[in-house]
Amino acid sequence: MSNDRIVIIGAGMAGAATAYFLAQRGRRHIHLLEKEKIAGTQSTGRNAAILRTMIPEPLLNRLACTSARFYLDPPEGFSSEPLVEKVGVYLAAGPNHAATLRSWCETNPENGQVPVDPSVMYGRIPILAPGLTHVTHKADDGVLDVHAILQGFLRGACREGTELLLGREFLGLRVEDGRLAGVETSEGFLEADKVVVANGGWAAASGTFGPYALPFAPYRRHLMVTSPLPEVDPHWPVVWIVGEEFYFRPESGGLLLCGCDAVKVAPEQGEVSDPAELEKTAIKAARWLPGLADARIARSWAGMRTFVPDDLFVIGADPRLEGLFWVAGLGGHGITCAPVIGRLAAEWIAEGGSAHPAAPALAPARLLG
Ligand SMILES: Cc1cc2nc3c(=O)[nH]c(=O)nc-3n(C[C@H](O)[C@H](O)[C@H](O)COP(=O)(O)OP(=O)(O)OC[C@H]3O[C@@H](n4cnc5c(N)ncnc54)[C@H](O)[C@@H]3O)c2cc1C
Repeated sequence: MSNDRIVIIGAGMAGAATAYFLAQRGRRHIHLLEKEKIAGTQSTGRNAAILRTMIPEPLLNRLACTSARFYLDPPEGFSSEPLVEKVGVYLAAGPNHAATLRSWCETNPENGQVPVDPSVMYGRIPILAPGLTHVTHKADDGVLDVHAILQGFLRGACREGTELLLGREFLGLRVEDGRLAGVETSEGFLEADKVVVANGGWAAASGTFGPYALPFAPYRRHLMVTSPLPEVDPHWPVVWIVGEEFYFRPESGGLLLCGCDAVKVAPEQGEVSDPAELEKTAIKAARWLPGLADARIARSWAGMRTFVPDDLFVIGADPRLEGLFWVAGLGGHGITCAPVIGRLAAEWIAEGGSAHPAAPALAPARLLG
């Protein structure tokens, strides 16, 4: 059994899932470092919680479908709550975007998205504006219990000895004579043989990683929730309007609305709301849910979706520094795909590589030219 001392930076979904699967592989010397006083307050606590396995990019689509199986049938003891509310997801398009929807389905035939007559969707959601002529449905997709998932990963990791260090900020890597020695933190130096960067949008923080920086870019996105509405059935499905960049689902008796805004920001701006973007979402909502034009917005917030130029996840060893690993750039799918992300990352960290067919396409080496 390896005695490697492993430090994971960030207790969001990426860090928690990685710690969980490392613990499952028998790793006992893990420190999970989190700068906030509570785990999962950044992107992991600010997303739409949607399990939508129909990701157009085929590789991510497969990862999402595999991860969904974990959520639908989690390991014994992972959580006392169901992890998915299977309300189903409709993807809907008007004539202008029907070809896009068709190509998503043709490219990912294994996904299980089934064409349905639009009247089925309109029958369930009568307040939806007409004009959506092409509709597909996946019954097993729906809404994830993000809190239960995060706690399941953290509990599983900590039960096997992972130490969760809350309120402790990573400040930089310490490299001595070209070898990784550990990390500088707000509470002093921590020795480590392996360091795993799972810090979400902060992977893009200028200066933090010096010569080992990778081209991460956080994009800010807003969500808003209406006050409770008598028209809304809390068991409605998720509706994603393809090509119009708008989706919604029931939340707290009202609707959660997203206009799919994506503005590149510095990480420190990632959670700062922009009223102009919220207004754009309100305009889309009025277009597609006209009966709700006067609904009150009870709350809204912003969060980061972080990408590298090819929009694929970054999971694996950094060939420039032995012992440095990345689990970042999870874009808009980090919750959906967390089980596979964590498993792949753990294989890299514990075994030095992964036999998973997706591993080479996700490895950091691809970004180094
Ligand atoms: C509006 C919005 C909607 C989304 N909707 C969905 C969805 O429906 N389905 C889906 O699958 N995904 C969705 N996502 C994407 C998903 O939220 C992310 O992919 C996922 O949360 C990324 O997890 P993470 O652990 O990489 O990042 P984070 O959750 O941000 O975790 C990173 C952690 O690192 C910590 N950290 C940062 N710097 C340091 C440091 N120096 N020292 C110590 N700790 C540090 C942070 O405090 C944070 O806790 C959405 C995202 C947004 C913004």
